[in-house]
Amino acid sequence: MPETVTIETKFLRNLWDDDEATSLARQPLELLRYRSNLLGADLRITNFGGGNTSSKIDLPDPLTGAPVRVLAVKGSGGDLRSIGASGFALLHLDKLEALIPRYRGEANEDEMIGLYPLCAFGENRVAASIDTPLHAFLPFDHVDHLHPDWAIALAASANGREKLDEFNRRYGRRIAWVPWQRPRFELALMLRQAIAGHPGCDGIVLGSHGLFTWGDTPRHCYVNSIRTIDQMGEFVDLHARARGLRFGGAAATATVDRESTVAAILPHLRGSLSLERRVIAHVERSDEALEFANSAWAEELCRLGTSCPDHFLRTRISPMFVPWDPARDGIAGLESRIGERLASYREAYAAYYTAHAQPDSPPLRGSNPSVVVIPALGVIGFGKD
Ligand SMILES: [Zn+2]
Repeated sequence: MPETVTIETKFLRNLWDDDEATSLARQPLELLRYRSNLLGADLRITNFGGGNTSSKIDLPDPLTGAPVRVLAVKGSGGDLRSIGASGFALLHLDKLEALIPRYRGEANEDEMIGLYPLCAFGENRVAASIDTPLHAFLPFDHVDHLHPDWAIALAASANGREKLDEFNRRYGRRIAWVPWQRPRFELALMLRQAIAGHPGCDGIVLGSHGLFTWGDTPRHCYVNSIRTIDQMGEFVDLHARARGLRFGGAAATATVDRESTVAAILPHLRGSLSLERRVIAHVERSDEALEFANSAWAEELCRLGTSCPDHFLRTRISPMFVPWDPARDGIAGLESRIGERLASYREAYAAYYTAHAQPDSPPLRGSNPSVVVIPALGVIGFGKD
């Protein structure tokens, strides 16, 4: 049975099962896999494919049998919910440390990525992700880096830093703030410096990015992560309630039979989005999704785009908003709106790509939206599987 006694959470459930963890106690990689799967199972904790987990463990050197300090960290790609023990990159911690004197500064930080494979432990060939040094240089045995929406609400706010101070006072926490920095070698050194400058620090908010939490044991790490995220959820919820209306209040009030309307429009919508590559749809049925789609600020917030760069990978820079009044326009009207909006979305996306592409950037991988927001219907996501 999951234990529920040691921490109080308002939103998240503590799924840690001491019996299961004890049965894995002699297999540190399995224990890391277990922790990762629990975290990844709840999308409020991290987005699909986003975030990574690590443990610093002693493994016998395959040649000499002598114990070696190894960093096990989620490899490039993959998802925490489904990662297996073989999905973790294993790297010599002392070799990773030896990269620090090799570092020539931020202008050359990309060259460090090519050195990570040289730190591989034994026969492990799992590709080390760009986040590897972030975990390596934090002086804690078990580290979670996650992208919870509640933490990003703080991290991506203009007054996020002051709000984090307020959060720390309210909950008696010592979470440090590190301003936005591309997740590479420089950020890893900034994290280490933040720890040195904040004695007793128990977490880090990365500006416009996400969260770092840690613990002495896998269980402490897990508990620290979900406790922190839950507290941030409560903090955000309190702010939302204090403001009364969310997203500027409801603008669209018409109600339709969502199931039959979605069924009627989806073949057209999915067909329109499948011109470059075939996609399937996920219809988000929650009340929150509908509240957002119907809100006064929905169109403006969609245009503003996502606030955490890691989300771009799945959601693209912004969702496509399709204005629709079911009473006036009907299904035929919605179809033509979709056509108009799609044409301008593709044009804007191609212009965005051209404006920011570097000579070595990968080619434009299609210009269709991955998320579509329609009043009265809600939010629909698209992906290749
Ligand atoms: Zn991240």
